[in-house]
Amino acid sequence: MAPGSNPVWGYSQQNGPSTWHEQYPVAKGQRQSPIDIVTDKVEFDRTLSDNPLNIIYSNNCCQSVTNTGASFQVAVDGTGTEISGGPLDNTYKLVQFHAHWGHGGNEGSEHTVDGVTYPAELHLVHWNTKYKDVTEAVDKSDGLAVIGIFFTEGKEHAGFKSVSDLFSKVPRKTDKVDIKFKFDPACLLPAGRDYWTYLGSLTTPPLFESVTWIVMKDPVEVSAEQLAALRSLLWETPSGEGQMCNNYRPPQPLQGRLVRASF
Ligand SMILES: [Zn+2]
Repeated sequence: MAPGSNPVWGYSQQNGPSTWHEQYPVAKGQRQSPIDIVTDKVEFDRTLSDNPLNIIYSNNCCQSVTNTGASFQVAVDGTGTEISGGPLDNTYKLVQFHAHWGHGGNEGSEHTVDGVTYPAELHLVHWNTKYKDVTEAVDKSDGLAVIGIFFTEGKEHAGFKSVSDLFSKVPRKTDKVDIKFKFDPACLLPAGRDYWTYLGSLTTPPLFESVTWIVMKDPVEVSAEQLAALRSLLWETPSGEGQMCNNYRPPQPLQGRLVRASF
């Protein structure tokens, strides 16, 4: 990186999360994500348990998988999908999902629970249909709702396998492959539907403070091979091409926010 040049954001020493505030001052804002969820401090909220989160996906909404250079991303046609209830005052539609992960071992999730990390965290991104489209919603305070799901290492996840098997077809940034089979992203949800919720942000630049976070309490199991498939994706680093990993932002200050629990 030439001195004085504006590096593109990334996760390396030179352009990683601790530098993002230089180009994105909101990185030091009042509702940044992720956070450490301190279970002693969360507040059970009966309105959440009385008004369950409603999640409707379909088996033909997923269109393609792209290597974005910072994660994989499954593009979704949100027609026929919706989430509502729980902490949400409106109906939101699914637009994409992606993940964050480590280099092996137990680090890699963005949210942490009492300081405990998981090897990966999946993000299902939805936009508020009170806006025209996701572009209009993305920077509004109630514009997005993201469901976060922790991955833990265990048995193979048969549903996720159909997606993780496609990673070998998109090794490099901008590589894209169509999804030509039926895949229902609901298969990625844990069986238990307990969650924590709080107001936060995108965890990548431009870090807009527009996300109602819904972090599922129960992790889902994926195999060591499926975690390795994430790391088989490639990205550009300041020192050349490398295995995509450690693409997570560490927890940010809570700044007095309340984290509510549905359970
Ligand atoms: Zn994410």
